[in-house]
Amino acid sequence: MAPHLFRVGSLLVDRDRWISSATVAVRRGRIVGLAAGDAAGRRLARKAGGAVADLGPGVLAPGWVDAHAHLELGALHGRLPARAFGAWVGQLVKARAACSREELRAGLRADADRLLAGGTTAVGDNDALGLAAGLLRRHPLRARVFREALDAGDPARTSAVLRRVQPGRPAPRLAFGVAPHAPFTVSPTLARRLATLARRRRLPLSIHFAESRDERQWLLRGTGPLARLMPGESPRREGLELLEEAGLLGRRTLLVHANLPGPGDRERIQRAGATVVHCPGSHRWFRRPAFDLAGWLEAGVPVALGTDSSASNAELDMGREVALAAEAHPAVDVAVLLDCATRAGAEALGLGTGRLTEGAPLDAYLTEARVRSRRAALELLVRGRPGIRAVLIGGERAWDDGSQVVPAILRP
Ligand SMILES: [Zn+2]
Repeated sequence: MAPHLFRVGSLLVDRDRWISSATVAVRRGRIVGLAAGDAAGRRLARKAGGAVADLGPGVLAPGWVDAHAHLELGALHGRLPARAFGAWVGQLVKARAACSREELRAGLRADADRLLAGGTTAVGDNDALGLAAGLLRRHPLRARVFREALDAGDPARTSAVLRRVQPGRPAPRLAFGVAPHAPFTVSPTLARRLATLARRRRLPLSIHFAESRDERQWLLRGTGPLARLMPGESPRREGLELLEEAGLLGRRTLLVHANLPGPGDRERIQRAGATVVHCPGSHRWFRRPAFDLAGWLEAGVPVALGTDSSASNAELDMGREVALAAEAHPAVDVAVLLDCATRAGAEALGLGTGRLTEGAPLDAYLTEARVRSRRAALELLVRGRPGIRAVLIGGERAWDDGSQVVPAILRP
């Protein structure tokens, strides 16, 4: 079966490799050949046999990987004024309860479409309402849906929660995971049983961790704004200790936020091989103190980026997230930031994407702007928020700006 071939101004494979005048061969959605320069491109086309489509002078870049979203909260976009975490949680619960299933579904689709149009090709999505998998099964985005579990310390809820979080039927672009909501909202029994489920079914875990001062105050002392909302007793322990004890900390764990780790947490997380997920837009929304990105990276902890939800972010756009990270952390190299927003997230989500290497699925977006070097490509993609002409997922056109620069179907 002849592959599809196309030529593009340049192609960024990953943080380290940029190809000028690139030709790409794609078969069954995966990259099967890459050539640098026109002569090598003609040889690849002759060998593969087939016409070459020209995608123009822009950059073909690895699609963004949003390692943490709550697409089901799309309906709340722009509706929650609070910036203090405790008050925001209360508003969120009320506003979500006031939405019909239809509104929630429409919001979910709108947020998935927003992500896609911004060049995101894969998402790790927390699902508490049971709506996400049904929609994402029919959406071009590649997704890992983490079923969210929370019993607020009430043992009477544990069994029902466990039934609800069982993984669904996977699809070519849809996989499942488990999201114990946070160390302070999951009882020790539920935490242990979720760890067993994840181990048996080989599912990754996504956990909100050390997000706010309020959370830490309640976990360690049982005081602060969350004391009013939490029905049970404070464990008077560090969140990470609770996760470790339950068996929830390992290589397939994503720790979301990690704004306020306890003493020694960073080293324990590094040893466990877990990934930290930073959400720059949500961080700014709650006006949190500076995130220690350089500290995590220096400690050897992989850091992925995420959008969090439309209830705590002004936009759902990974290009904006990486630009916000670059603005807040000017000393961190743009190559490292690109890696956080692509490969690191993809590896943590276990999706086999995040780089445009041979054998990988062609999950990419195409920019309008052209560049003349790897450095210029990294600067453009990370800080420049370039206009996007088209988005490809699994070698198929998933979105375009109306220009139809990419042929409709690149399969087989
Ligand atoms: Zn979240």
